[in-house]
Amino acid sequence: MQDKLFIDGKWVAPVAGGVLDVTDPATEEVFHKIPAATVPDVDKAVKAAREAFDNGPWPKMKGSERARILRAIADKIVEKKDFLARLEVRDNGKPLPEAAWDMDDVAGCFRFYAELAEESDGKPDEVIPLGDARFNSRVIREPLGVVGAITPWNYPLLMVSWKVAPALAAGCTVVLKPSELASLTTLELGAIAEEVGLPNGVLNIVTGLGQDAGAAITEHPLIDKLAFTGSVATGRKVMIAGAQDIKNVSLELGGKSPFVVFADSDIEEAVEWIMFGIFWNQGQVCSATSRVLIEEPIYGKVLARLVEEAKKIRIGNGLDDGTLLGPIISRGQYDKILAAIERGKAEGAKVAAGGQRPAELNTGYFIEPTVLTDMSEDAWVWKEEIFGPVVCVKPFKNEADAIRMANDSKYGLAAAVMSKDLARAERVARAFRAGIVWINCSQPTFTDAPWGGYKQSGTGRELGRWGFENYLEVKQITGFASDEPWGWYIK
Ligand code: NAD
Repeated sequence: MQDKLFIDGKWVAPVAGGVLDVTDPATEEVFHKIPAATVPDVDKAVKAAREAFDNGPWPKMKGSERARILRAIADKIVEKKDFLARLEVRDNGKPLPEAAWDMDDVAGCFRFYAELAEESDGKPDEVIPLGDARFNSRVIREPLGVVGAITPWNYPLLMVSWKVAPALAAGCTVVLKPSELASLTTLELGAIAEEVGLPNGVLNIVTGLGQDAGAAITEHPLIDKLAFTGSVATGRKVMIAGAQDIKNVSLELGGKSPFVVFADSDIEEAVEWIMFGIFWNQGQVCSATSRVLIEEPIYGKVLARLVEEAKKIRIGNGLDDGTLLGPIISRGQYDKILAAIERGKAEGAKVAAGGQRPAELNTGYFIEPTVLTDMSEDAWVWKEEIFGPVVCVKPFKNEADAIRMANDSKYGLAAAVMSKDLARAERVARAFRAGIVWINCSQPTFTDAPWGGYKQSGTGRELGRWGFENYLEVKQITGFASDEPWGWYIK
């Protein structure tokens, strides 16, 4: 396990010497310490990234050369998959099969952007027809510059890969700050970068607190772009800081995503996808479908089956065989989720399942899969992101009612609809004000397809070719190609 910052290809202790405890959320045991970077460390990292961008080989390399290194990173992730997945479980708490899946996705993400980097080599400049024969114009794309990437703890290495893989593929250099609550696999990415020969300064990793290391990145004048994933509250601060010198800012923020289930749905399938939509990763998923809307005729049946199945979910240490729900990431998040449930109850919600710590688990930040019902549409629990294994369920009368309720949110990250009537599902999918819509499922995510939100869920898109464009500047080159003089001043 790494315990230093990775700056300019070297492992260095933070200037102020601070460290942060790393706690296993399943056992509450402190098992490691990570460095706490502050302003001078971030400054060193940014200067290294700036130098690597302005004078180093990386941005000028052919896409195929960058692709070779990205694929080498992917190969190392696969080689170390078991170690990385177990480390992720100890740091984050998620069940091991989920962490193993994440590592496959991380490797897949590096490979996907290696392809795009390679493809960009052969691409001719885009000719722009001007409607004026005296001029010709082309568009070329160039790496955007130095990227400050700030990531959350829920999918630690996966969220890092969604930024680092396209940024590196595009030829950018990066200063990366993972969440202080789960930094270990990200530090291992530094070791992998070193092993595969990524040039010094291209990827710099500074662990530390948001208000110290994170804020220092957002305020640094030598950074061109901020790529942020996290809460709306922090995203707002990032955008404000970035505005000082008009940085390019992309934000992937939170959500309170709806799942609309029509009465013609198969009840077992509906329950399966409702559960996958909210209990996977302990519900700590930005796109979790945490508001479930069920058409009145099947409301009772679906709710009864959901409650029955939620109670059966095996809760425990993510490293134990058969665990389907691990602990919440930290004591702080655990307290917040329990407080949210209490707030829901105080507002009139009924607890149909869960609602507390499992009686048999005395240690670890465990919370039972929780189903809340009977809250009003104005209730805090119906409106705000809880970011835990807590689903709010309400009945609806008809399609128009469902669409209105689904869209009545300041968020717009994801939405899902279930119906056997595909024409209706398509209508509702189009009516949702959300960047990611699932039909007859919830949560499956593919590297090829764009990811991002409407409204307060963010700005910009990650993944797919949209994620690559995030890290490219657009330059027009226009030439005067006429033999005739221009003749404005000099006739
Ligand atoms: P958070 O906003 O608390 O922290 C995110 C990151 O920002 C961390 O690295 C943190 O250290 C840093 N940070 C905190 N204060 C900062 C500041 N003042 N300046 C700069 N950086 C600062 O979010 P979190 O609790 O880590 O993650 C959970 C949130 O992330 C949820 O709201 C979730 O919905 C969202 N999320 C969104 C997506 C998406 O793709 N849309 C994906 C995952 C998580």
